[in-house]
Amino acid sequence: MLSAEVGHIMASSPTVLMRLVASAYSIAQKAGMIVRHVIAEGDLGIVEKTCATDLQTKADRLVQMSICSSLARKFPKLTIIGEEDLPSEEVDQELIEDGQWEEILKQPCPSQYCAIKEEDLVVWVDPLDGTKEYTEGLLDNVTVLIGIAYEGKAIAGVINQPYYNYQAGPDAVLGRTIWGVLGLGAFGFQLKEVPAGKHIITTTRSHNSKLVTDCITAMNPDDVLRVGGAGNKIIQLIEGKASAYVFASPGCKKWDTCAPEVILHAVGGKLTDIHGNALQYNKEVKHMNSAGVLATLRNYDYYASRVPESVKNALVP
Ligand code: AMP
Ligand code: MG
Ligand code: MG
Repeated sequence: MLSAEVGHIMASSPTVLMRLVASAYSIAQKAGMIVRHVIAEGDLGIVEKTCATDLQTKADRLVQMSICSSLARKFPKLTIIGEEDLPSEEVDQELIEDGQWEEILKQPCPSQYCAIKEEDLVVWVDPLDGTKEYTEGLLDNVTVLIGIAYEGKAIAGVINQPYYNYQAGPDAVLGRTIWGVLGLGAFGFQLKEVPAGKHIITTTRSHNSKLVTDCITAMNPDDVLRVGGAGNKIIQLIEGKASAYVFASPGCKKWDTCAPEVILHAVGGKLTDIHGNALQYNKEVKHMNSAGVLATLRNYDYYASRVPESVKNALVP
């Protein structure tokens, strides 16, 4: 009796991957609270990194400390790569999140990921994506991104959008968390497509260049949306607001694309560089997505076939 019970418990105990995703969900929710708290306190503590459009705020710093420390405490053998360069100091206990979302633990792990060990996983963390827009009050552009990679491939991800619904009135629930695992699906939103035949391109608002504009013009879009954040733009794709995310420029990094790519791929979309190459997420890879980003939910080939040769030649992977 006892051994049968133990056998049953062992058979159904969650895998490392599902435990990690369940923890990342709770950790991303805490991150969203920190992002809101920093605004509410009123002091953003803005620091310029490489230039005036490459910023870091107190929220970027606190959230990265929170996410990386919370993950490392529970999963000490993970490789965790966060965007911000921070001094290694003791992290305030208040920033640690120990929870895990039970709904995720109830889901089956896709069989190809059941044997994954903690040390095989690489986690890419963008503590606050859309920092420029955050400092300008465009709050729904902001997301927190936790992407999980195995054998160089993005396989699971969590996106928290701290200010989802912030313009929807006082009764609306503020903030949401989207999550996904390849082979299982993506959850926390309603999948919607842009009306058939419409070409709506979403692209950068703060990091424009001639290459970006040349590439978009060649695609002959019906409309171009300029918004902040890689996470935010992928949300536009899965919610039917845009049909392609086009960024023919270096600047975007692996932590910007890892979690969003998983959510998009889990619902049948495609994200590559501007040449059509898959992005690699092993721990040794260079952080910069030097050859840009091209992502769609449907009709990837329409956009890929219209990238001008001159743009391709200017963007070396
Ligand atoms: P954007 O679409 O401009 O919001 O960019 C998406 C992500 O890539 C954000 O995290 C940006 O900070 C980052 N990014 C894009 N271009 C640059 C750049 N030229 N310098 C620094 N970060 C960039
Ligand atoms: Mg970012
Ligand atoms: Mg960031």
